[in-house]
Amino acid sequence: MREIKQEAKKRTFLGLLLAVLLFFMVAAVYLLLFARDPLAPFSRSVMLVVTATILFCAVLFLCGLLLAILSIMQNRTFQRLGWLTGKTLFLLYPLVVHSGRLLHIAQEKIQHSFIAVNNRLVATRPQKTAAKDVLLLLPHCLQNDSCDYKITRDPANCRRCGKCQVPDLLDLARHKEVALEIVSGGTLARQAIAKHRPRAIVAVACERDLSSGILDSFPLPVYGVVNERPQGPCTNTRVDMALLEETLDSILQIRKGESQQNVVF
Ligand code: SF4
Repeated sequence: MREIKQEAKKRTFLGLLLAVLLFFMVAAVYLLLFARDPLAPFSRSVMLVVTATILFCAVLFLCGLLLAILSIMQNRTFQRLGWLTGKTLFLLYPLVVHSGRLLHIAQEKIQHSFIAVNNRLVATRPQKTAAKDVLLLLPHCLQNDSCDYKITRDPANCRRCGKCQVPDLLDLARHKEVALEIVSGGTLARQAIAKHRPRAIVAVACERDLSSGILDSFPLPVYGVVNERPQGPCTNTRVDMALLEETLDSILQIRKGESQQNVVF
């Protein structure tokens, strides 16, 4: 059931990306075929170079999109062409969001879809990551808003009073032997990444922060887990602990005495 929902989510971003590329290709072909005659020879040459470049880039990005779709469908990575898939998704992300706005598709829905696509592509990478190279990055809005203890500086300051999920998250990180940081924004997140220098990140946040974090960190793989917001944004948020544990298990190397779980995003 989770897989079916994720497939539907991925279609929003991939469909919009395809629409953007087709628009540029059709526009470039139209300009090449029909809009050159009235121009002076010099302008015509410039126009030809510009439209040919746009057409070339659009075809290249279309190949990147097709590779992304093939990766998702076949659950495999095209090692040597992975850069093209990444560049296609990350360079065209702003255009996809803008085109979605024109079509009155909620930005949050597009970001959620982008995170699902990103997670699936990252999950197709065959190599697993050692626990010491994984960083679990959490937003401070998971902390109960009446709590006086500063856990962004040191998560161990949590007194485990049970008002929020922070103790469960600390236990999960300790059990999986991964580093954990609780951050209050992009600057602290970047500092945490510079401090731990991870090879993979599992991040919990809202759609907007996860999308920008994934884009900022590229090509470092970031697995995004969207938080739950029962009291609205940025206040007493929660995370699906089972999903978070599944996500960690899916990227961690199997330790002695453990069996790998089969996980879908
Ligand atoms: S569980 Fe920890 S972080 Fe959460 S409210 Fe209690 S002391 Fe604060």
